[in-house]
Amino acid sequence: MNDDIATRIQQLREHITALEQYYGRPIGSVKLLAVSKLQALSAIQSAIAAGQYSFAENYCQEAVEKIIALQQDKRLEWHFIGTLQSNKAKAVAQYFDWVHSVDSLTVAKKLSKHRPADMLALQVCLQVNIAAEKSKSGISLAQLMEFALAVQQMPRLQLRGLMTMGVHGQSVATAEVFAQLQQALQQLQQQGLAVDTLSMGMTEDYPLAIAAGATLLRIGSKIFGDRLKGETQ
Ligand SMILES: *Cc1c(COP(=O)(O)O)cnc(C)c1O
Repeated sequence: MNDDIATRIQQLREHITALEQYYGRPIGSVKLLAVSKLQALSAIQSAIAAGQYSFAENYCQEAVEKIIALQQDKRLEWHFIGTLQSNKAKAVAQYFDWVHSVDSLTVAKKLSKHRPADMLALQVCLQVNIAAEKSKSGISLAQLMEFALAVQQMPRLQLRGLMTMGVHGQSVATAEVFAQLQQALQQLQQQGLAVDTLSMGMTEDYPLAIAAGATLLRIGSKIFGDRLKGETQ
């Protein structure tokens, strides 16, 4: 099981490098985040032993327990990628390095307010719901510019870029969503915002994401296999 995790990480890294080459992306420009939600601590420890130090989690309480259990290891970087309720914003601001799922001013303000003064600014991506699917969080493309300008003003947040999800089971629609997110990032850059991050691509669709300029991949089941419990959101 643990050897499996190491093997899968190794194979995934090789595949990512091959795709960087194939799509003319600079080698090393695509970073792998291991999505460890609903995985045991021992699975995370196996990934760490295989040289994987960046993890992403969806559920605040579960994640904070893991972060505390592993807090001696200063190599680790934690990304919050789940739906962010405003009553969780304080804990997220205290424990995570990155948040990918910022999609409301209320939550952004709370994250900034609660980010401890002795930590680096919280690195944030704005979640965009490009396909306007009702089941997904995120702001619309039409709201993006105004929202980005507001978040950029917040003292304890550093706006890094954009995050989105593909359309499950539909590769053509997913490629279109990823291309639109890439264009949206370029528009923010043209407005003078210093943004550099595109968080897109999961187990199902990461090759399409690399083709469209992803810089952070969020991959869970391809590394860890099935999750312990059913998804709760
Ligand atoms: C669970 C999840 C992932 C990882 O999904 P896999 O299909 O297991 O790779 C990526 N992003 C978000 C937002 C998720 O909730």
